[in-house]
Amino acid sequence: MRKLETKTIVVASHNAGKIREIQDLIGPLGFTAKSAAELNFVEPDETGTTFEENAKIKALASAEASGLPALSDDSGLVIDALGGDPGVYTANWAEKADGTRDFVMAMEKVEAALEKAGASKLEQRTARFVSVLCLAWPDGHTELFRGEVEGAVVWPPRGSQGFGYDPVFQPEGYETTFGEMSAEEKHGWKPGDAEALSHRARAFKIFVETCLEA
Ligand code: IMP
Repeated sequence: MRKLETKTIVVASHNAGKIREIQDLIGPLGFTAKSAAELNFVEPDETGTTFEENAKIKALASAEASGLPALSDDSGLVIDALGGDPGVYTANWAEKADGTRDFVMAMEKVEAALEKAGASKLEQRTARFVSVLCLAWPDGHTELFRGEVEGAVVWPPRGSQGFGYDPVFQPEGYETTFGEMSAEEKHGWKPGDAEALSHRARAFKIFVETCLEA
């Protein structure tokens, strides 16, 4: 495992919601982190078939373009009743014909698929959010960190915080969706904490333990 020796990195993402969350998580650790979007880097095609492959593609592209270590996130919603869909294609389900993304439409698509599958009760709608973070160095070295949070897909959507599919995801043991939680509640973690809640914060905690702590 390679340690991260610099406090300046690139957040290898063009997704505003993810960038905000990674900046929230990394900020208290004293990092200066610009995003690939701010640096006007070209968004690479996500041609992988796993979260790990896509996370690597994104982190390596930003590390190469910047000459700095880069941290990416590839994530998605894996729904049991849909055989794991939308999975690595979670962002694609939100894509409209004009190339823009509409997450209200995406959540409706998920709901229609669940209805078609006959999954009406909460216990039939189990799902997990997965986040794979990849830290890549300009020399091509990479480290991967995976976080998952179990829960269920609820309908109708509830809450307007967070991003993407947050209003329809209720983590196990909670009565509120991610869309009804503040960013602090959704992460459920700050440096030094033993537990985290969100998939991204869980992956981030492993990144900190692996690459930052002595
Ligand atoms: P990708 O990693 O760029 O392929 O996109 C993953 C997609 O999964 C995002 O566009 C979001 O819609 C969704 N997603 C990932 N993490 C979260 C989350 O924390 N909340 C809500 N949606 C998420």
